[in-house]
Amino acid sequence: MEYVTQFFAWNAIRTIIEISILWLVIYRIFLFLKGTKAVYLLRGIIILTLSLLFFQMLGFPVLSRLLAYFFAFFLFFVVIIFQPELREGLIRLGKRHVFYIEPRKEEIEKALREIVSAVGVLSRKSIGALIAIKRDISLASYIESGVILNADLTSELLQNVFYPSAPLHDGGVIVEGTRVVATSCLFPLSENPDLEKTLGMRHRAGVGLSEHSDAVVIVVSEENGSISLAINGQLTRNLTLNDLFTILKGQLSKGK
Ligand code: ATP
Ligand code: MG
Repeated sequence: MEYVTQFFAWNAIRTIIEISILWLVIYRIFLFLKGTKAVYLLRGIIILTLSLLFFQMLGFPVLSRLLAYFFAFFLFFVVIIFQPELREGLIRLGKRHVFYIEPRKEEIEKALREIVSAVGVLSRKSIGALIAIKRDISLASYIESGVILNADLTSELLQNVFYPSAPLHDGGVIVEGTRVVATSCLFPLSENPDLEKTLGMRHRAGVGLSEHSDAVVIVVSEENGSISLAINGQLTRNLTLNDLFTILKGQLSKGK
C-alpha cells in the first residue's frame, strides 16, 4: 500500500516538474520573441498546428495530409530564412545566466537616479550622449558591436564615458539593471520618414534601437544640450530632468 501511495506521489511531483519546465520554456521563448517579427511567425505556426489538429479530429484525410506536408515545408523554409537569428539565439541561450537574480526595485531606482544625474551634467555642458537601458529583449548583438565594460553604474562613470576627448565617447552605452554593460555600441538607425529632417545620427540611432527592441533610450544633444527619450520608436524631446526621472521610473521599476 505504501508503495502505491509513494508511486502516485512521485507521479504527481513528476507532472508538476514537467509542467513547470514546459511553462518556463514557453515563457522564455515568448520573452525572447516579444516585440520582434518572429512573434508573427510563432502565430503562424500555432495557427497551422491548430488547423492540422482540427482537420485530423474531423477526420479529413486529404486536407490533414496536405497540411502536414505544407507544415514540413514551412518549417524547412523557416530554418533557412531565420538561420542567422536561430544561430544567434542558440549562442545567446548558451551564454545565459540561469540563476541571474534581478536587482531589487530600490537598486533600480538608485541606478536611474545616477543616470539622470549624469544626463543633467552632460546636458548642462552640451555633451552628446546616447544611453540605452535594456528591458526584456536582449541587446547582445549591439553589445558585441561595442566595448564591454561591465562596471557598476555611477553618474561619474557615465559622464566620463561621453567626455568628448575620451577614447570611447562615440556611439551608445548599454545599461542593464545596475550595470553599465558596454560603451561605443553601434545602434541601428531609424528609417522612419516622419522623423524631423534636422535630427542627426545620434537621435536616429536612439529611435532605431527603440524600434528594434523594447529598450528605453536617452539622447542628450551635443548641439543644444536637450534631453530626449526614445521608447517603441517614439521620440519625446526637450524633457526636464524631473520628467525624465518620472518616465524612466514608470517604465523600468517593475515593483518587486
Ligand atoms: P546632436 O544633437 O548631439 O548633434 P544628432 O542627432 O544631430 O545629435 P549627430 O550630430 O549626427 O547626431 O551625432 C553624431 C554622433 O552620434 C556620432 O559622433 C556618434 O557618437 C553617434 N552615432 C552616430 N551613429 C550612431 C549609431 N549608429 N549608433 C550609435 N551612435 C551613433
Ligand atoms: Mg548633430
